[in-house]
Amino acid sequence: MTVLELDGLSVAYGRAAPVVRGLTLTVGPGEVVALLGANGAGKTTTLRAVSGLLKPAAGSVRLDGGDLARVPAAARARLGIAHVPHDRGIFFGLTVAEHFRLDGLDPAAVAFDHFPALRELRGRKAGLLSGGEQQMLAIARALARAPKLLMLDEMSLGLAPVIVSRLLPVVREAATASGTGVLLVEQHVHLALRIADRGYILSHGELTASGTAASLAADSELLAASYLGGTASRDATPRAGDGGEADGAPPE
Ligand code: ATP
Repeated sequence: MTVLELDGLSVAYGRAAPVVRGLTLTVGPGEVVALLGANGAGKTTTLRAVSGLLKPAAGSVRLDGGDLARVPAAARARLGIAHVPHDRGIFFGLTVAEHFRLDGLDPAAVAFDHFPALRELRGRKAGLLSGGEQQMLAIARALARAPKLLMLDEMSLGLAPVIVSRLLPVVREAATASGTGVLLVEQHVHLALRIADRGYILSHGELTASGTAASLAADSELLAASYLGGTASRDATPRAGDGGEADGAPPE
């Protein structure tokens, strides 16, 4: 069973040429999948197409097997897609508790299981929180809705690697415990691959590699090429009829 299935997804801004082309990708329940690639590779654009902020030029987006082509963004959120964007969707003038009220949740009823530190900070304005605490709030808000799919776009932006290395395992635990599928866009590639099950690498809008997190992490040449915007193209795991992954050319 898959939570998210992208099949041949192409996405463009306006009439310009598509910046994501023919992307095929899956996320299963409880699975953490890293979407990696250099700046401008098309990662954010992919997440926007999944949450309904951009309309695909071609291909399909399916949630739990259901085609979302005609489902607007707000309805996708209600169906169980949570998207934490770059800016975290945080309002500096609102307290932690007010953010949950904004989502129609009773802050007193929010368990804060994953982020006990937030319980103490309920009355604090988000603008006075540290970057790491703001990110905790963003993730806690998303998880409080028990989403089927959680998409995190560069949660580490502006955070010290030590903070990122503390937050990522929480995401891993939440996915395992709740069965939420996670699609993770992350610049700290090795930290992301440490907690991910699988990964996909985008280069210039196209999939150039995919495989288990362990196999991708072991291929430093491939990762370096991807992050320099190179065109190394391969499938990091032997193909075993697993479907849902793009064709990889043999290593050059
Ligand atoms: P980054 O880490 O820099 O966000 P990314 O992999 O998320 O990289 P995208 O933000 O998806 O990449 O950008 C993919 C391409 O689409 C880039 O060439 C970018 O310039 C272009 N692009 C992004 N947003 C827009 C927009 N609002 N209008 C037009 N083009 C855009």
